[in-house]
Amino acid sequence: MNSLQLEKLNPQQHTAVTSEAQHLLVLAGAGSGKTRVLTHRIGWLIAAGLASPYSVLAVTFTNKAAREMKGRIEELLEAPSQGLWIGTFHGLAHRLLKAHWQQAKLPQNFQVMDSDDQLRLVKRIIAEMNITDDRIQAKQVQWFIGAQKDEGRRAQYVVASGDWYQDTLKAIYTRYEEICQQSGLVDFGELLLRAHELWLNNPELLAHYKQRFTHVLVDEFQDINDIQYAWLRVLVGNELSLTIVGDDDQSIYGWRGAKVENIQGFELDFSGAQTVRLEQNYRSTANILNAANAVIANNNGRLGKDLWTDDDEGAPLRLYAGFNEQDEARYIADEMKRLIAAGTSPTEIALLYRSNAQSRVLEEALIHLQVPYRIYGGVRFYERMEIRNAVAYLRLVLNRQDDASMERIMNVPPRGIGNKTFESLRVMARDQGCSLWQAAQLALANNALAKRAANALQAFVELIEQMDSKVMGLDDLGEMIDYVNKHSGMIEYHEKEKGEKGRARVENLNELITAAQSYNSELDYDSSAELLALFISEASLDAGDAQAEEHEPSVNLMTLHSAKGLEFEYVFLAGMEENLFPHKMSIADPGGIQEERRLAYVGITRARKELTLTYAESRRLYGSETFNSLSRFVREIPDGLVNEVRLRSTVSRPANFGLQQQMAVEDSGLSIGQRVAHAMFGEGTITNAEGGGAQTRVHVAFDDGTERVLMLQYANLQPV
Ligand code: ATP
Ligand code: MG
Repeated sequence: MNSLQLEKLNPQQHTAVTSEAQHLLVLAGAGSGKTRVLTHRIGWLIAAGLASPYSVLAVTFTNKAAREMKGRIEELLEAPSQGLWIGTFHGLAHRLLKAHWQQAKLPQNFQVMDSDDQLRLVKRIIAEMNITDDRIQAKQVQWFIGAQKDEGRRAQYVVASGDWYQDTLKAIYTRYEEICQQSGLVDFGELLLRAHELWLNNPELLAHYKQRFTHVLVDEFQDINDIQYAWLRVLVGNELSLTIVGDDDQSIYGWRGAKVENIQGFELDFSGAQTVRLEQNYRSTANILNAANAVIANNNGRLGKDLWTDDDEGAPLRLYAGFNEQDEARYIADEMKRLIAAGTSPTEIALLYRSNAQSRVLEEALIHLQVPYRIYGGVRFYERMEIRNAVAYLRLVLNRQDDASMERIMNVPPRGIGNKTFESLRVMARDQGCSLWQAAQLALANNALAKRAANALQAFVELIEQMDSKVMGLDDLGEMIDYVNKHSGMIEYHEKEKGEKGRARVENLNELITAAQSYNSELDYDSSAELLALFISEASLDAGDAQAEEHEPSVNLMTLHSAKGLEFEYVFLAGMEENLFPHKMSIADPGGIQEERRLAYVGITRARKELTLTYAESRRLYGSETFNSLSRFVREIPDGLVNEVRLRSTVSRPANFGLQQQMAVEDSGLSIGQRVAHAMFGEGTITNAEGGGAQTRVHVAFDDGTERVLMLQYANLQPV
């Protein structure tokens, strides 16, 4: 048993690993070794002869975590762990349904539908039912069906309320279920729901698995949803042993139906459960841990945990204020480059942010300084679906022969150009040896299509022509993209998608406008069409580069949500600003703020050695310029733990800060980044300047959180 390295556990961890209690809850803060305990416990159970690999079922939050855990257990046991079931809830449900398709009332070759397939089906049903009222949107229906399934509710159990809206949703859900059943399609939520019903409807099968499995273990229990919990509870019943590990302070998927109350539910449902609390953190320095503790202390209703470390204080946290988002990104890229040059492996460096769209500026700075990076659990900016769609519109506007772009966006957002039309255009293009665009013109001229299809296609052709004449008349790249985003219907389309995903897509599309605004071509161009062509070809190149470099050791970029469970020596948290983080959608809602704060706690606790927080005093994001104040989560960290980095004098001026303004400001003895006092507004920092001469205006971010644009000549700002 020496190989199990039990001596490397502290007494509480040891207790948890070797507990013989039937039901065990390990409730502990970040980095206290929960995942390690779970892994060792599996090893111990097997080595002690209390379980065989065949009788253990372990649930992790991602497939990657499952693979890692399996490898670790094999290391501990010094043997292959054949028969061991480790996976995510979805993965395990899929495995069960495949094995027992008959009992699950599915065809043997049932197919898993992704979210796009699901949406297409919902649209088909809405059309088939002739629902034209725009209160019913496909995206919302999709969201509704998902939420029902997460709570374990089939259409027949949705309450018929007499309310038209609710009853229509119910009717669509009912039809959706019928079609899925007929065609053997299963969406993600259905996997879980079906797996639960598999237990309920097949007592012999359930009995079989209750016999087979003796021990069930679940990591990241705080993010489990109702249907997952129900599935577990039925399986475990009174017979099996259940170990769960989790941290209520890291529950960050409330918007996806996860319920932290399930931790409390566990104590009720499995009475007599042993609870072990781990209080020593092995991951982070004292400074990082104290910062995390101070932030999360502002939440209420916590189960309450104390976390300490006997690690050194370590370096203080660093706080860097960029003039703007570019300066912030440049600082981060510089620092990463410095770390790598000093011998740190890029894989030990992570850059975390709240929203996907933030990555664009950061990626550009990294590319510029040739710092290799990869986006963990996500797609690089220019490879994202909505960005490729927008770029495809622009390409088609520039070049009607671009068949790939035409195929891509002809029916995006959906405008009634169906597969049949697609097919006939393809055939026509092939027969005539012409482009799809020309085929479309031919088809329209020859009345070769059914009326509805012809109308839809005609509208599309007109849309592109109209974009061409409008967009080419503009000389600002940002405005061009703004026009295409809006008139293509893409913004409106993604706005209707509920939840994080839709929001992220809209944010990304708006962020493309910012990218265009700050695009400076190094090549010559004569017309706005040429400038646009340069911009989009560079954008596509960016996307191509990404593929090639996948395998070299890279720094990790990811959203805070994807960072759960991971750790890195050096962590950068970018965009620590109100409205970004906490996200502006959650600011009005106290529950929302608490979830954002848990996300901050997750972010801070990813760092082992050094944590750097950055923000931008002015930021162009989603196409417009904003002045956000410093995030409350930074303000919640005690001053003594944070060092403010002041690099002002060495940082170059923001790109949009011309010589004229610079001279005007400097003539008055002031400079960008300088601290100043105003008679009425108090003290603040100059963040930008515009205009020139007597018309020069300066942007000042005052310490009370307000941002003002003042006439330099009259403001009478005093350096402090
Ligand atoms: P999170 O809440 O972020 O998921 P966790 O509680 O699962 O964190 P682990 O990832 O298991 O924590 O452990 C954090 C780090 O501490 C890991 O690098 C792990 O190897 C190390 N660690 C845990 N326990 C010990 C110990 N007793 N001695 C030395 N290192 C330990
Ligand atoms: Mg963990």
